[in-house]
Amino acid sequence: MRWPADYHTHTPLCRHASGEPAEYARRALELGFEEIGFSDHSPMQRDDFDNWRMRLDQLDEYVQNVRRAQRDFPNLTIRLALEMDYLPGFEDWIRELAARHPWDYLIGSVHYVSDSWAVDNPAEVHQWKDRDPFEVWSAYFERLGQAVESGFFDIVGHADLPKKFNVYPTRDCGPLFDRFLDRAARSGVAIELNTAGLRKDCREIYPSRAFLERAARRRIPITFGSDAHAPAEVGWEFAAAVDLARSLGYREWRQFAGRKFVAAPL
Ligand SMILES: [Zn+2]
Ligand SMILES: [Zn+2]
Repeated sequence: MRWPADYHTHTPLCRHASGEPAEYARRALELGFEEIGFSDHSPMQRDDFDNWRMRLDQLDEYVQNVRRAQRDFPNLTIRLALEMDYLPGFEDWIRELAARHPWDYLIGSVHYVSDSWAVDNPAEVHQWKDRDPFEVWSAYFERLGQAVESGFFDIVGHADLPKKFNVYPTRDCGPLFDRFLDRAARSGVAIELNTAGLRKDCREIYPSRAFLERAARRRIPITFGSDAHAPAEVGWEFAAAVDLARSLGYREWRQFAGRKFVAAPL
């Protein structure tokens, strides 16, 4: 079968990934992919914001590394992108980064539910113990709603990330999903099926089937991403992700170039 593009991959510049872009590209070709995109963690204005992203002075190097891979692998379409963190108050910074290079797409992700806590950070997992999961999930989806309404992003990254460590609210999250997805549908963004969840404690694609059923009902477009942080993770479990999407009625994925899109057959 023809794989949809793997639009979520990283590079060692973010300090928690291994393998050069050429190795990701080689792996993609081995698997029969026609298209991938690099979407490494974007820098913050202050390099001491956290320790899991490229430094600001590495942004040009990142772009050069991806451009080199594009030249070295003419048989593979390689997109240039970023995974950007959405935090309220960072709008000017996001706008500035978005204008710095001709990105093919921008993934908007919420990792931080407050200025200092990234819900998926293994070093901060103890923070879950002191909190009501439903409140964390509520804060997360509220922020994700703000992210889509900001209009900065083309794709929503790993939409139900708070499930990573398998900590779920006892209350029904359906209303949170509905409220967020109404906002997403109005904004026109795509949502990615991110297979990294299958490698985490939750053992499930981000977002869940229950979430994606609601997205499909609203005809929200989709993309696919492995969230590869190593070459061996490129295209990770894409067959499962494509099966899931097709079982929900999806027959297209959204293909990006220069921040414009077309519908590609699934
Ligand atoms: Zn990462
Ligand atoms: Zn992420």
